[in-house]
Amino acid sequence: MSAPASHGMFTAADLDRWAETGGLVTPPARLAVIGDPVAHSLSPEMHNPALQACGIDAGYVRLHLRPDEFPAALPKLKALGFIGCNCTIPHKFMALEAVDEVDPDARRIGAVNTLIFRPDGVLFGRNSDAPGFLRTVREEFGRDVRDLRILVPGAGGGAGAAVATVCAMEGCRELVLTNRTPGKVEPVAAGFSDLPGGSVTAVIPWTREALADTLPRIDLIVNCTSLGMKPGDPEVVPHDLLRPHHLVFDMVYKPLITPLVAAARAAGARAVNGIPMLLWQGVYSFEWWFKRPAPVEAMRTGLDAAVRARS
Ligand code: NAP
Repeated sequence: MSAPASHGMFTAADLDRWAETGGLVTPPARLAVIGDPVAHSLSPEMHNPALQACGIDAGYVRLHLRPDEFPAALPKLKALGFIGCNCTIPHKFMALEAVDEVDPDARRIGAVNTLIFRPDGVLFGRNSDAPGFLRTVREEFGRDVRDLRILVPGAGGGAGAAVATVCAMEGCRELVLTNRTPGKVEPVAAGFSDLPGGSVTAVIPWTREALADTLPRIDLIVNCTSLGMKPGDPEVVPHDLLRPHHLVFDMVYKPLITPLVAAARAAGARAVNGIPMLLWQGVYSFEWWFKRPAPVEAMRTGLDAAVRARS
């Protein structure tokens, strides 16, 4: 198969007859994004140009594994000479349990999105979503998370718990969490008691009244719900409460201009969608695999082209 690896998608069954499947891909598949589903992932379109730009003879493919297939696949990938993998929904939590060793930040966050097959045989787990989030805030808004008062709607979900944990680890000025289902966010907040940001964490109800009380003193709103992906979704925060001083970071990137981003801009606020975070988490994963600076512009160009092609 001489098609670019970016178009390759493989399954657990393919791993067992790799010589006839992924083994035919050129350049040879040595990295993968693992998910269920995974067809939507833009990671190959970001990493393959990076590999090419660095002259690395390796390809990055999609690997569709169901949760019951995930643990058994890892030793097979190692035996096939894989350098590493990214894990996406729903494998980030299982990956934490499946690795031999884990970075302390990833353990604290409770999720691994980057697997590294180390030359010493150890399967090492890290989380590049966390530094990717911090870098996005710095690059897009010119601010450090530790200087900000932050509201995280959707803090009870997977992305929200990770963002809230990173904000607390950084010791942000104030951290306010909210979630439609309160029972999911309370354990997240309870996990911060020993962190610098733990002392300023509050959980507020998912109501207009509570948001109206809170939003005036908030600098950064990070939407970690999936709201905005479907036409007719409810507003993440009431749009009439948005003000020019707000920085709005919507983790959603489909559509590219989400209703929250559009409303924030209409209110005179600065707003960004989830694409920059995709880029920066990819940059950190690349640097951890190859111990060299990532070709950021090649990754950005590849990602932009993929986003345009799919929107
Ligand atoms: P998840 O674990 O399923 O969490 C979904 C969150 O959305 C929960 O807090 C859920 O609240 C909330 N929610 C869903 N429907 C809602 C509604 N109708 N009203 C209020 N809240 C609602 O998903 P996830 O993995 O955290 O992903 C969340 C979003 O972030 C997705 O759009 C995903 O694509 C995006 N994301 C982007 C990046 C990036 O790099 N840009 C990375 C990760 C995720 P309940 O707890 O009440 O159900």
